[in-house]
Amino acid sequence: MKTGIHPQWHHDCVVTCGCGNTFVTGSISPTLKVDICGACHPFFTGEMKFVDRQGRVDRFVQKMKAAEQNKQVKALKAAKQLVNKGPAKSYQDILREQQNNLRRQAASFAKTSDSSPVAQAK
Ligand SMILES: [Zn+2]
Repeated sequence: MKTGIHPQWHHDCVVTCGCGNTFVTGSISPTLKVDICGACHPFFTGEMKFVDRQGRVDRFVQKMKAAEQNKQVKALKAAKQLVNKGPAKSYQDILREQQNNLRRQAASFAKTSDSSPVAQAK
């Protein structure tokens, strides 16, 4: 064994869990603090448990609520736009409208041009 490169080994390292459970093991540190152990881990207890130290679950739930509210607001806005403007026109409808307008203009021009000087000259 090379000297001076190996850490000191503690055979009586006391591990303390967040649930209050303690046990002794070997480690290079004299004490350890853990969040979860064999006495409180859901795999061994069979109970559902959230390990949430930094409020991640709360933040996720808040985000989901905000997203749901956003969805409802967007749906309301879309419904209001539909009521105000009616359904959106397709390009075909717009083209048809423009063609009808042109035909009307041409028809009215033809009526007025009957009494035009060119027609009277014939
Ligand atoms: Zn524990």
